[in-house]
Amino acid sequence: MSELLDPAHLPWVAAVFGLFVGSFLCVVVHRYPIPDQTPASPRRSSCPECGHELSWWENIPVLSWLLLRRRCRACGTVIPFRYPLMELMTGVAWGVTAQMTPEGEHLLLVINLLVVSGLLTASFVDLDCFEIPDSVSIGGMVLAPIAAFAAPSLHQHTWLAQQVSGGLEVTRSGALVAALGGMVVGGGILLLVGRLGARAYGRDAMGLGDVKLLAAGGGFVGPGGVLVALLIGSVTASIVGVSNLIRFYCLVRSRDRSRGRDRTRGRAWRTARLVSQYLPFGPHLALGVALALLSWEPHLRAWFLGV
Ligand SMILES: [Zn+2]
Repeated sequence: MSELLDPAHLPWVAAVFGLFVGSFLCVVVHRYPIPDQTPASPRRSSCPECGHELSWWENIPVLSWLLLRRRCRACGTVIPFRYPLMELMTGVAWGVTAQMTPEGEHLLLVINLLVVSGLLTASFVDLDCFEIPDSVSIGGMVLAPIAAFAAPSLHQHTWLAQQVSGGLEVTRSGALVAALGGMVVGGGILLLVGRLGARAYGRDAMGLGDVKLLAAGGGFVGPGGVLVALLIGSVTASIVGVSNLIRFYCLVRSRDRSRGRDRTRGRAWRTARLVSQYLPFGPHLALGVALALLSWEPHLRAWFLGV
């Protein structure tokens, strides 16, 4: 492969492929809540409003959206900005994944690209439907041990894999143990948090979808990596959660003021809390798992654990 393609160009090639994968993911995510429509059908894409079949030049990721000036050519329906955004994000994610995967590790690259695409799908669907598809989470749990066995370098930097392998070179059995250990730790810790949350607040604090997603993620990043992933996810979710809370609080206050209503600060605060508590956690967990997968060693350990 090295004769065909200069390794320095690989991330750019991957990014272009990623744009098209992103375009496919848009279709998958769009059709997710609609039953009877298999997402993987090879039919040509069409406008969801008028059914107008897209010709090839209307179906180029990002570029078509710009060329068509954000509208369907047949009916003029505005194409939401999130579609080119999803395509762009997938393209960038593929490019970064190719950049961060060690050179020459072709099987590992395929695994990493699959995992990153699955995490993107889970995030987009969760943002849309407050649900993480089982095909991603359970599919990931099935794939993780197989991937670890086939490409032990997946767990090259996992402490548990190194211990079981008894040396710096991670063996198949070492990688397999790390994958299973990561799944137990990832799923287990979220189950525990959910139990404690349910006891403290009297309601389910953690969706089972999140538990399954982090279990699957743990299979690819190992027990230590999955804890780092959870830490990252919790930090970004808190930042988004707090900024949402402030945004809704300001919104409620300004609306009260413009309507001349005299709601107390305390009541405005409670309203804001009620509105902002529905925050999908999946995208944050996905981000954590992706970062742990691609740059666990040495950056994250240094940033978060200071060692
Ligand atoms: Zn249309």
